[in-house]
Amino acid sequence: MKYFFNCLLLISLFQPVNLIAESARSAQRIAVLYDDEFILHNTGPNHPENSDRISSTINFLKNDSKLKQNLIWPTFSYASIDVISLVHSKAYINLVKEESEKLSEFSAKLSTGDTVISKQSYQVARKSVGAVTKGVDQIMEGVVSSAFAFSRPPGHHATKDRGMGFCIFNNVAIAAKYLQNKYGVSRILIVDFDVHHGNGTQEIFYSDNTVFYFSIHQHPFYPGTGRPNEKGSGEGYGYTLNIDLPKGAGDKEFIQSLKSQLIPVMDKFKPEFILVSAGFDAHENDLLGQLKYSNNGYKEATDILSIIAQKYASNRILFVLEGGYDPTNIKEASASILNAIISKNKTD
Ligand SMILES: [Zn+2]
Repeated sequence: MKYFFNCLLLISLFQPVNLIAESARSAQRIAVLYDDEFILHNTGPNHPENSDRISSTINFLKNDSKLKQNLIWPTFSYASIDVISLVHSKAYINLVKEESEKLSEFSAKLSTGDTVISKQSYQVARKSVGAVTKGVDQIMEGVVSSAFAFSRPPGHHATKDRGMGFCIFNNVAIAAKYLQNKYGVSRILIVDFDVHHGNGTQEIFYSDNTVFYFSIHQHPFYPGTGRPNEKGSGEGYGYTLNIDLPKGAGDKEFIQSLKSQLIPVMDKFKPEFILVSAGFDAHENDLLGQLKYSNNGYKEATDILSIIAQKYASNRILFVLEGGYDPTNIKEASASILNAIISKNKTD
């Protein structure tokens, strides 16, 4: 009997320590949000935004010996209409549903612009939002401090009531509103390093001083917005910061802009959460973009964002895939980002 009680004592003494150690190990891991259903958004033959973009990346992340032990793969469901309505009008959500579900196996263009949709696109777009809200939940619940959502379709061109530029629902903008609505987060930074300006995200938060939108992109280029003189309006004036780069600019301009322009304003804004619109179409050799960021450039950018996250946001950072049309670039650049976070976590 005495032995039995000694065993109970030992269990009660050691279990909390083990739980704390396990929880610390888990918080150092990174949540990757991906669902095979993302493949079902069919943009037709020869479209740059196709499912092949991310399949080799996911395969690599699941099998790379260093990465796989540092990643967790939470499952998630479709975002509710209420969650999508945090950003988009009910009329637009219904339009996407009706126009996609009436299609046969062929793809067509959404009537609001240049976004190709197929029969499953509405449901896949809802799941794409589900990926980012799950990433937010995992971080805010302390399961992890950082996450990467390989959402498809992408989102940063989508406005409140218009899909355009391969985007249906604005994943990152919904994540920001969801953070505010569910968790009461007061100040959110969105960093957008896709080669294109995220006109949708800018428009949604243009008069908002609780969400800071920073975009660095190629100019002149699609969609034409994002000039440095676009700084926000009303209470939001000064909370939008656009840096446009000429064709051919690379890591030097990218990193220098983050250091000289983003860091000083973040020392004033003090973001509590960082969302990253991670497009890889500014990578050298992309099929559409003409900037020349390297894999090491994405690593250096991550190091800078991690410093801001550590200083003000309890390390909370969620990367969300936007564009990028060379599968090898997406695989290598996202691995650079994930490895940079893993290295930082190990030195904390
Ligand atoms: Zn893009």
